[in-house]
Amino acid sequence: MKDLNDLVRANIQALKPYSSARDECKLQAVAFLDANENPYNAPCNRYPDPLQWALKGRLSALKGVDAGCIFLGNGSDEAIDLVFRIFCEPKADNVVAIEPTYGMYEVCAAVNEVEYRRVRLDDGFQFRAADILRASDGHTKVVFLCSPNNPTGNCLSPAEMEELLEKFDGMVVLDEAYADFSPSASFLPRLSRYPNLVVLQTFSKAWGCAGIRLGMAFASPSVIAYFNKIKYPYNVNSLTQEKALAMLEHAGQVDEWVGILIAERKRVMERFSGLPCCVKVYPTDANFFLAKVQDAGRTYDYLAAHGVIVRNRSKVALCGGCLRITVGTPAENDLLINVLKEMA
Ligand SMILES: *Cc1c(COP(=O)(O)O)cnc(C)c1O
Repeated sequence: MKDLNDLVRANIQALKPYSSARDECKLQAVAFLDANENPYNAPCNRYPDPLQWALKGRLSALKGVDAGCIFLGNGSDEAIDLVFRIFCEPKADNVVAIEPTYGMYEVCAAVNEVEYRRVRLDDGFQFRAADILRASDGHTKVVFLCSPNNPTGNCLSPAEMEELLEKFDGMVVLDEAYADFSPSASFLPRLSRYPNLVVLQTFSKAWGCAGIRLGMAFASPSVIAYFNKIKYPYNVNSLTQEKALAMLEHAGQVDEWVGILIAERKRVMERFSGLPCCVKVYPTDANFFLAKVQDAGRTYDYLAAHGVIVRNRSKVALCGGCLRITVGTPAENDLLINVLKEMA
């Protein structure tokens, strides 16, 4: 890996970060008269902890990662955008990503005027480190990987990911939004071995908290320091921090949901593959599956007309004729199958 000073944009290195009232004074106060808050309407009147230490303490224990290696943001999407703003000089630098994958990497590249290079997966939806390296050059600051990948559902090869982490001299962002549904091990234990690794996880999927907007980035303390340097001071609101702390008291509940969803995934995929409209169901390690159908547009419209909304991915590379279907409750999954059974 290059020295961080050669990867981080010069303006970000030189930046003097905003210092909030709460950053500057850490004393135990009797009266908070420093931040122009309203003294009434507790507890919402107070600004939240800018660095979310209570939450990071709990996550540190759960994930086996030091609190100083954790960034929390307004969804993983905030972390993705910050990666561009920390590392990528607009109109000069580029990033490389697998294709197909999650659409936000490309959107953030466009917003930040950073060239986005795609490296097509093979027919088994796998990538090779050598192909990524060939697509990169001296201005490639970041590679985006997603495992299990969206929309294909499969895990990427751990051996290829390790080869990339070893040979690529920029940052590697590995999005593990769906890791809780997968039998493959997270790359979190490899953080100490690879200083160029950033692992993304989220409360939006297995934790059932898409509405509170809470994403996690795990990386070396020096990379996390740059996230903290440029983020909005109060990027995670107090309601979100409280709800996440309450959820962490019920980690067993999350395990139970994941167990149900994995069992349902198997059941609905088996039933789906027996449908007349089904051409192929692809293996998955996520809480959704990709299915090739005879006419994706018609099947999508038919389902929508019966109140069942899926994602039409047929315009996406390697996904011709495919729908992406989220695993729902047993009743929702039965509805999907029963509606499709009746399709003429
Ligand atoms: C759903 C999803 C996320 C979650 O994003 P949030 O902003 O945390 O809700 C991240 N990455 C991928 C690949 C996803 O599919």
